Amino acid sequence: MYRIRFHGRGGQGMKTASRILGTAFFIEGFEVQDAQRYGAERRGAPIFAYVRADRTAIHERGVIGRPDLVVVADDTLVPVSAAGVMQGIGPDTVLLIDSAESEKTWRERLNLQGPILVLPRLIPLEPSEMAYVGTECAAAAACLTGIISLASVRQAVQQELAYMKAGVVDRNVEIASGAFARMAAHSGIVQEGGTTSHHDRTVPSWVDLPADDIGESSPAIYGAATSVAVRTGLWRSMRPVVDTSRCNRCTWICGSFCPDSAIARGSEGYPQIDLDHCKGCMICVAQCPPHAIVAIPEAEAVAQEKEGAAS
Ligand code: SF4
Ligand code: SF4
Repeated sequence: MYRIRFHGRGGQGMKTASRILGTAFFIEGFEVQDAQRYGAERRGAPIFAYVRADRTAIHERGVIGRPDLVVVADDTLVPVSAAGVMQGIGPDTVLLIDSAESEKTWRERLNLQGPILVLPRLIPLEPSEMAYVGTECAAAAACLTGIISLASVRQAVQQELAYMKAGVVDRNVEIASGAFARMAAHSGIVQEGGTTSHHDRTVPSWVDLPADDIGESSPAIYGAATSVAVRTGLWRSMRPVVDTSRCNRCTWICGSFCPDSAIARGSEGYPQIDLDHCKGCMICVAQCPPHAIVAIPEAEAVAQEKEGAAS
């Protein structure tokens, strides 16, 4: 089975990328699953999409944890841990980055053993063409698998974008062809991962859910599912900060109201906010009786952190 993830920002066409690649696989005779995972519904917010393709029925579901290929449309996402670009990358995973930096630079930065490729953007895109980046990434990914022809990619682009004006479709086909050609030297570099079946899964007879002592009454319901894997911290534009001089350490109020279970009982009984998962809804700010949680702009909080680290 091929497992491929696309990472980019809202407006870059990551959903389109997964649709085009999925359809191209389908044209080649594969069973396909493609899905998108949105963060904040706004332009520029991180988004990822994924494609599974296999010759038999696909029983896997959910986010791809062990990808064979990761395509990054915006290289500024790589160092942002909450974007999850590096999640599950193993020695056989191919990392394709749309970047002006060289492969050597990325290898030194990331210290990865597996193949790293850069997709230089040869066709200059107008700002209004940002959505075409998805087409470019899909075509490059198709080429790297070595089992999808350019004809199938072109057909997939035409099929998926059929609702657009003819000129726009033609431009996308042109961009796809260019990206496919630029990756030709690496065709087949992506190795197909093994297939898993639901029969391979062992159902645990007992599941331990973490819980605080009852006397502390602080819920810590980090129980599984996919919520832990999806780092919603990147959605945040405002950050909740606890003012310990006002906090009376009741904890259960802010912790109970947090919709993401991002508040746990920390040291000395003060609430501890998990910034990887706090999405910045500010419900805790509104609910705290003594107004001990303040909302400050995320950029300001980051600047303060840097200042603190430097001093
Ligand atoms: S921040 Fe507010 S709600 Fe949370 S523990 Fe402190 S006083 Fe209670
Ligand atoms: S801002 Fe929202 S998500 Fe973050 S800790 Fe407060 S209630 Fe939870």
